[in-house]
Amino acid sequence: MGLNKKILDKRFWLDLIMPNRCCFCNKIISWYSFCCNECAKQIPYIDQPICKLCGKYTCMCSRGLSYDYCFCVVWYNPIMHSAVVKYKVESPDNFCMLFGDNLAKQIKKTNYASNIDIVTCTPMTKKSKRKRGYNQAYELAKVIARFLEVPVTDKILVKNRDNVSQHELTFEERLLNTKNLFGASPSVNLRGKTVLLVDDVITTGSTLNSCTKVLKARGASTVICAAVATTKLHNEKHS
Ligand SMILES: [Zn+2]
Ligand SMILES: [Zn+2]
Repeated sequence: MGLNKKILDKRFWLDLIMPNRCCFCNKIISWYSFCCNECAKQIPYIDQPICKLCGKYTCMCSRGLSYDYCFCVVWYNPIMHSAVVKYKVESPDNFCMLFGDNLAKQIKKTNYASNIDIVTCTPMTKKSKRKRGYNQAYELAKVIARFLEVPVTDKILVKNRDNVSQHELTFEERLLNTKNLFGASPSVNLRGKTVLLVDDVITTGSTLNSCTKVLKARGASTVICAAVATTKLHNEKHS
């Protein structure tokens, strides 16, 4: 899946002003790379089958998840943790290109690719977005949408409040913690649509699950999730 000329040009010229850096270790790299060779070897690509429906190594489907399929690229380990933290606060471009390309390729191998009507992302509260300057999940969603040639928007889902940290919560507590946390913009009608919902990391799946319920309540017939990383055990920590 090639980058189009406009993006290649942008990356080339940007590199002259602000050298391109590895999305893991920050080392200066060539303008067309996303990470350095050493870090590329460390990427914990998923090497064991995960459940295609919930995206977990230990299937959680029996807990009543409402999304229909889930694509993931890597295990969420300490290397990925620091890369995710970095992409949330610094330029997310290389992280999004590296993993967005992989996710789009996986999706293209399935029948879903031709059925996706719209790509969207898990939302942030207005306050958090103002503080950070961008929604990192939307940056990833834009890259995937461009590769799939499908429209993308961050105007479907809204996050009503900042939830208390989920780290120490059990699955059941997380479900309560995310109750009414997400909603949809008033005019959203997704009747019969297939939506691709993008996020960075899946732990218990409770965020994707809550967002999917909102999308389906607005008429979406199918919700497919795409996330960069998935924790191998559902009680692993994630920030
Ligand atoms: Zn590196
Ligand atoms: Zn499952």
